[in-house]
Amino acid sequence: MTVFLNGKFLPAGEAKVSALDRGFIFGDGVYELVPVYSRVPFRLKEHLARLERSLAEVAIRNPHSREQWRDIIFKLIDAQAFDDQGVYFQVTRGVAKRDHAFPKSAEPTVFMMSNPLVAPPAAQVEAGGAAVSAQDNRWLRCDIKSISLIGNVLLRQISAEAGAAETILFRDGRLTEASSSNVFIVRGGVIQSPPKSNLILPGITYDVVLELARDNQLPLQLADIGEKDVRSADEIWVTSSSKEVFPIVSLDGVSVGDGRPGPVFRRMHRLYQEFKQKVMRAGKREAVAV
Ligand code: PLP
Repeated sequence: MTVFLNGKFLPAGEAKVSALDRGFIFGDGVYELVPVYSRVPFRLKEHLARLERSLAEVAIRNPHSREQWRDIIFKLIDAQAFDDQGVYFQVTRGVAKRDHAFPKSAEPTVFMMSNPLVAPPAAQVEAGGAAVSAQDNRWLRCDIKSISLIGNVLLRQISAEAGAAETILFRDGRLTEASSSNVFIVRGGVIQSPPKSNLILPGITYDVVLELARDNQLPLQLADIGEKDVRSADEIWVTSSSKEVFPIVSLDGVSVGDGRPGPVFRRMHRLYQEFKQKVMRAGKREAVAV
């Protein structure tokens, strides 16, 4: 696999970073993951805007212009043998003597790789997945796409050990998100999700689902959601660039609705698949705005 490290494309096995990199020592960096369909990145502008915001919030200099990011991403995509990709890129505060305070002079480290993007198989979507819940004990800046993911890792491991697809998180009795996805519920035909705040990652897929709901006149409400309302919801979905829109059919061993993906999910899933074919997959390189 060809990866990108600090200005160079090279085989993954040859990409070496100093042990003093603050990404390694402190988890001091941010990242992005852009889905690529038929070799064209989806919503690159929005992903780059989210990266810029993450970098600004942690005061790491953005080492590239949007045009430079786009060119590197196109080259990285071209260096892979597969058409649908998940382009991962991270920027750390760079290499410096270990000291919590920012180094006076350090160059940000840029690392990028691209892996095959595999949507959940149809049979899995048809069956839906299980989720378990946990208290959201992460920091209070979950809106920053930080590479310090130990909180998310520990929370995801709870569902992994339970053989479940995701861990759904509650903070102070309210739904936040899941360990690596956003969460939607349906109650009485209304699609609901928490509004963007410092407690959740502003998902690009979350935005797509909101747009599809609005464009198709599906009732939608962004508001705080209590734990009880999640546990008695008719439907629960999780969304992310890799999971797309995925139905959760049991929470902590209790069936959601009748234990099968619900009608509003089916509608949204169809809309998302149509959108993928007509918009995401039909994108043209020349038309990728940054
Ligand atoms: N929330 C968390 C904690 C995530 O890690 C992710 C994606 O990895 C998301 C939400 C969904 O974001 P997106 O739709 O941009 O993939």
